[in-house]
Amino acid sequence: MTTSFPGKRLHSATRLLHAGAPALREGAGPVNVPVVRTSTVRFENTAAQADHHHRRTAGERVASYGRHGLDTHRALEDAVVGLEGGHRAFLTPSGLSAITLVLLALLSPGDHALVADGVYAPLRRVDSTLLQRLGITVEYFSPTHDDLASRLRPNTRLLYLESPSSLLYEVLDLPALSAVARDRGVTVATDNTWSGGWFHQPLALGANISIQAATKYISGHSDLMQGIVVVDSPALAAKLSTAYEALGLTIGADDAYLALRGLRTLPVRLAQHQRNATAVAEFLQQQPQVSRVFYPALPTDPGHTLWKRDFSGASGLVSFEFRHATPAAANAFVDALRLFGIGASWGGYESLALAAQPERLREHRQWTGDAPVVRLHVGLEDPQDLIADLSQAFAAGARAL
Ligand SMILES: *Cc1c(COP(=O)(O)O)cnc(C)c1O
Repeated sequence: MTTSFPGKRLHSATRLLHAGAPALREGAGPVNVPVVRTSTVRFENTAAQADHHHRRTAGERVASYGRHGLDTHRALEDAVVGLEGGHRAFLTPSGLSAITLVLLALLSPGDHALVADGVYAPLRRVDSTLLQRLGITVEYFSPTHDDLASRLRPNTRLLYLESPSSLLYEVLDLPALSAVARDRGVTVATDNTWSGGWFHQPLALGANISIQAATKYISGHSDLMQGIVVVDSPALAAKLSTAYEALGLTIGADDAYLALRGLRTLPVRLAQHQRNATAVAEFLQQQPQVSRVFYPALPTDPGHTLWKRDFSGASGLVSFEFRHATPAAANAFVDALRLFGIGASWGGYESLALAAQPERLREHRQWTGDAPVVRLHVGLEDPQDLIADLSQAFAAGARAL
C-alpha cells in the first residue's frame, strides 16, 4: 500500500485506513493482516537464530520468540505509530499496564516524578503499592494552577500528564508544560486515551511518550483490554524495551487484530461521538438541575481555548454537576436511565453513566464543588433517544429529592 501519490501526501484518515495492511498477493491475499498466533518462532539453522536474537537485542523489531509477536503485532504497531506520529509502539495487556510499564521503565530508587492530579485514578495505586516500595517519590500537582518550574527537583525524571483529565476534563497546556520539563531534561509522558490519538497528537506538541488505553476508543466495541505506549526516540524505545521484556509483557494476536479493526473506523466513530456528545452537553446546560457541564468543546468550558488550539475534536465523555442534588438523588438519576448502562470503562459504541466518587473529585486540587457529579459516555445511539432518556431520568431524580 502506498502512503503517497506522486508529489502528494495522503490525509491522515486515508493513511490510518490502510496502515499496516498486507502487501497485495494477487488472488491469494486478504485485505486484512491475518491473525498470526504462535509461541514458537522457528529458524533454518542456529546461525539464523543467533542472528535474529542479536538483531532483537540491538533494538530491531524482529521476533525470536512468540512473546515478541509476529505480523499482526507489527501491523498494529505500525498503524499506531502512524496515528501518534512517534518512533516505536509497545503493546500491553491493558491501559493500566501501559502506564505501569512507563513508570517502571523510567523511574529508579531515589527518583522523583511529578504527576498531574487529574490522572486516571488507579495510577495512584501503582504509586502506593509498587513505586513507594521501590523508593520512588511521586508528587501530585495541579498543572492548570501550579508553577511547574518551582516543583522540579534535581532528581525529577518524569512529568506525567493526562489531558483532558479524567472525570472533569481539565485541558492542560501541553506545549508549555513540556517545554519547561524538557528544558530541565525531564521526560514527558501523557495519557492520550480521551482523544483516541485521532483528535490530539501529544508527540507533536512536546511530549516524549503517549499512552493510550486501546480498551477505549481504539477498540470501540467494548470487547477488548489493551494498552499502547508510543515513544518519540530510539533512546526511549531502548528503555521501554528493557522493562517490557523484563516484565514479560505481550498481547495475543487476536487482540492485536481487534485493535487494528477498531482503528479503521476510529475517525468516523469519533466524529459521531462528538456530534452526539455536543447535543447532550448542550441539553444538559439547559437543565435547571445542572449547575456545570464539563466538556471542552463547549465555549463556556474553562479549557475551551486550549482545546481549540491543541485538539481537532472532542470525544463522547461529558460530566456534569448537579445543582442541589444529594448523592441519593444523583444515584436515583443514574438508576433511572434506560439507554445508558451503568459501568466503568467507556469508548465503546454504547452509552454509559457513572456516579463519580467524591474522593476521586477531591483528588483534582482545583475541584471546590460539593454536589454530586455524573460522568456520561455518550455512545452512537440516536442523540434524540439519549436526550429523551436523560429527560425522564432527571424527572425521576427530582422525585427522589
Ligand atoms: C481506562 C483508562 C485507562 C486504563 O485502561 P484499562 O485498559 O482499563 O486498564 C488509562 N487511562 C485512562 C485515561 C483511562 O480512561
